[in-house]
Amino acid sequence: MKSFQLKILEKSKATHDTFVFKIEKPKSYSYVPGQATELSLLKEGWADVKRPFTFTSLPEDDYLEFTIKTYDDHEGVTKRLGNAQVGDEVEIGDAWGAIAYKGEGVFLAGGAGITPFISILRDLRQKNKIGNNQLIFANKTNDDIILFEELKTILGHKFQNIIENQEDSAYDRGRIDKKYLMENINDFKHQHFYVCGPEGFIKAVNGALKDLGANPEALVFEK
Ligand SMILES: Cc1cc2nc3c(=O)[nH]c(=O)nc-3n(C[C@H](O)[C@H](O)[C@H](O)COP(=O)(O)OP(=O)(O)OC[C@H]3O[C@@H](n4cnc5c(N)ncnc54)[C@H](O)[C@@H]3O)c2cc1C
Repeated sequence: MKSFQLKILEKSKATHDTFVFKIEKPKSYSYVPGQATELSLLKEGWADVKRPFTFTSLPEDDYLEFTIKTYDDHEGVTKRLGNAQVGDEVEIGDAWGAIAYKGEGVFLAGGAGITPFISILRDLRQKNKIGNNQLIFANKTNDDIILFEELKTILGHKFQNIIENQEDSAYDRGRIDKKYLMENINDFKHQHFYVCGPEGFIKAVNGALKDLGANPEALVFEK
């Protein structure tokens, strides 16, 4: 497998714990919106510690972008990335992953699970093909919603938020369960479902979708 050592060109904040990194792009590097790569930070003791992260840039951009939620409560890769600076280097491998756009449907994301959908939705918007796609985004609090304004601009009223842990949130409250899906999706049989988030989220949402009649072949998620 190939590997590429690349400089961080820009770092900005998307939320209180999520950073956007623009990184050098190797010549003729290619990926499909929705794909990820293994990434490590080239700092002493960390160069071999690889974690998967998803490209949020578009394949034709002349840089690579990653949107990374950091976990400061333990010594992992994302905590290191939270402290990384412009000019620091990362290493990435080839692009891989099962999440790709297959046609109109409902995107269901939990937390940082929004990242493959950012690239897919930016790509569709650029091609003027947003159509009837719908996004349901689950987070703990309002402040955890990544790229709220951009997603609202892309999807308008087809962008819904559901918040688990903030009582005064004006968005829908709770978790994505069967009842919520029934109330918010009008067709389970003839569209795709794109599901991404923590393992428990994927399992619960896929299970509920199947119970409601979704064709297992129409579920798109990282296996
Ligand atoms: C295909 C794929 C694509 C992904 N793309 C993205 C992306 O684009 N952006 C993104 O932000 N994430 C993405 N992720 C998730 C990302 O890979 C993880 O957040 C990352 O691996 C965490 O690395 P870490 O070394 O910081 O934590 P790890 O040490 O690997 O821990 C992983 C999880 O366990 C918990 N944990 C483990 N140990 C402790 C501890 N001692 N104390 C407290 N909590 C602990 C953390 O809360 C964390 O959620 C993706 C995952 C996959 C599978």
